[in-house]
Amino acid sequence: MKGIVFSGSGLDRAAHRRRDAAWLRERLADDATRVLPFWRLAPLVRTGDAPRLAWATPALLEGREEAPAPVFLGVAGGIAHFAADLSDRPEPLAEFGFDGVAHFPDLRAIAGLLPPDEAAIAAQARHVVDWHARHGFCPGCGERTHVQDGGWSRRCASCSTEHFPRTDPVVIMLVLDGERCLLGRQPAWPRPFFSALAGFVEGGETLEEAVVREVAEEAGVVVSDVRYLASQPWPFPASLMLGCTARAATREIVVDRSELEEADWFTKDEVRAALAAPTPRLAVPPPMAIAHHLIRAWVEGDSSAA
Ligand SMILES: [Zn+2]
Repeated sequence: MKGIVFSGSGLDRAAHRRRDAAWLRERLADDATRVLPFWRLAPLVRTGDAPRLAWATPALLEGREEAPAPVFLGVAGGIAHFAADLSDRPEPLAEFGFDGVAHFPDLRAIAGLLPPDEAAIAAQARHVVDWHARHGFCPGCGERTHVQDGGWSRRCASCSTEHFPRTDPVVIMLVLDGERCLLGRQPAWPRPFFSALAGFVEGGETLEEAVVREVAEEAGVVVSDVRYLASQPWPFPASLMLGCTARAATREIVVDRSELEEADWFTKDEVRAALAAPTPRLAVPPPMAIAHHLIRAWVEGDSSAA
């Protein structure tokens, strides 16, 4: 499925380099190396009409030995790319000379405006930078953990347990009943915004089982024929959205009010109209969300979403 925001970074993650401390040191001593500053989970972006990631050189890291270690993101065109968390600094724009040329916008707000490969790099970086910020201590014994492997794991100083950045799978599914689909609305969403139902995959559960369970829990509808279509990294903070369709075996909706305010069946014509522009009854998610692509593929008769 094309056009999934946060996919297609173009970076070779070069995982074999993560344990090559000498190579990483050399790259961080090379002015050609690109370092993406983050501040409080926001990437540095050049200001202007066409936002782009604002890459710094490794000089940014000088004197910051006590700060969080940079995360090795990968290589493109022979150039190593890192992310660096500047959250310990109160005024990084002024301190590092970015005032007036760059800022730290919320990634959700800026992602759709960045070139797709840059949005994907920012997603990768945000996911891992956030994980480091919240995993300074070992969940096993409570002692400090330390960064290793170019930022792709942490080791406990006391019990030596290794910890790795986790990814939390979320199923998001368009439930189909012939020419109708099931959409739901969370209480916090403005009317008439609806989207595909979604929920976290639980431990010891397949993707298909999670789809069946979530639709039954949230809307009281029984589904079968779960089909996986496409996925989307969603680094807020650590999700992987698994986009599916499922076929309705029952039609009556019983909404779980703790999860949804409302759920309803919408015809293909209603959804097609809402894709063009919000209608009084329905607004659908923007292209940044995988739900948009699931809905569009169904409306446009993509055979994989039939
Ligand atoms: Zn430990």
